[in-house]
Amino acid sequence: NLQSTTTLHNGIEMPWFGLGVFKVKDGSEVINSVKAAIEAGYKSIDTAAIYGNEEGVGKAIAESNVPREELFITTKVWNSEQGYDSTLAAFDESMKKLGLEYLDLYLIHWPVPEQNKYKETWKALETLYKDGRVRAIGVSNFKEHHLKDLLEDCEVVPMVNQVEYHPRLTQTSLHEFCKQNRIQLEAWSPLMQGGLFEEPTLQEIARKYGKSTAQVILRWDLQNEVVTIPKSVKPHRIQENANIFDFELSSEDMEKINSLNQDQRVGSDPDVMN
Ligand code: NAD
Repeated sequence: NLQSTTTLHNGIEMPWFGLGVFKVKDGSEVINSVKAAIEAGYKSIDTAAIYGNEEGVGKAIAESNVPREELFITTKVWNSEQGYDSTLAAFDESMKKLGLEYLDLYLIHWPVPEQNKYKETWKALETLYKDGRVRAIGVSNFKEHHLKDLLEDCEVVPMVNQVEYHPRLTQTSLHEFCKQNRIQLEAWSPLMQGGLFEEPTLQEIARKYGKSTAQVILRWDLQNEVVTIPKSVKPHRIQENANIFDFELSSEDMEKINSLNQDQRVGSDPDVMN
């Protein structure tokens, strides 16, 4: 169900399913979507400093009647703030905006190899983790070679890697590498930002189960053991997206969806993003 969690390698429980708020405007838009999600039973919210809506996310949390401890809040340090001291300052800034005493998951948003600062940035995340200000730390958009490089020097192995992941980009070797290192994979743009709804194979599978194409894709994430955080600002879609715990895709249908992979990104390539 919606409360089901994956146990991260440090023992922290992270919901398999949550709400993403990329491109959702601060103020009433984000407040209303986070509230609609919490009312629909969502426990996990994914934001980032760069989304500019941490204040609204914080307001929605404060105004909801779900206890803080039941929620799982993620935010991310933006590229321009990478480095040890600047990351500690960015964290304080995010926490002030969110109005939280502690965070559940803090991520390095992109590796930005050009800056070559992600190891220093990681040290700041390790400090925040050891100080108990965040329950889990991780990375985002790290390819296998970025992870290998980080693993050579880190004290704490990242608990999560949040990457672009959908039926057109299944990231099989990265996923395998993450499993071997007990790093939980998390999907961003799981619905390929809306680009998959006309795909005939997905439509056919959706008809077969009496589900929407979005629900089939999100169910496929769960069965592949990938945390998923679809975005919507529409309450009926927020509810629809969460309604994926009452059916199971057959292994044949899972394979059919896996084989839609074309290594196709809608977002930036992490090696060139700066
Ligand atoms: P998404 O794949 O979740 O697609 C969202 C879009 O799909 C919505 O704008 C909506 O138009 C449509 N949609 C949603 N549910 C639908 C439904 N049931 N039926 C029809 N259409 C529907 O796109 P996303 O927002 O890019 O990704 C999800 C979250 O991942 C983001 O909000 C953000 O939190 C995170 N993210 C992280 C990074 C990163 O670099 N770490 C990058 C992009 C996104």
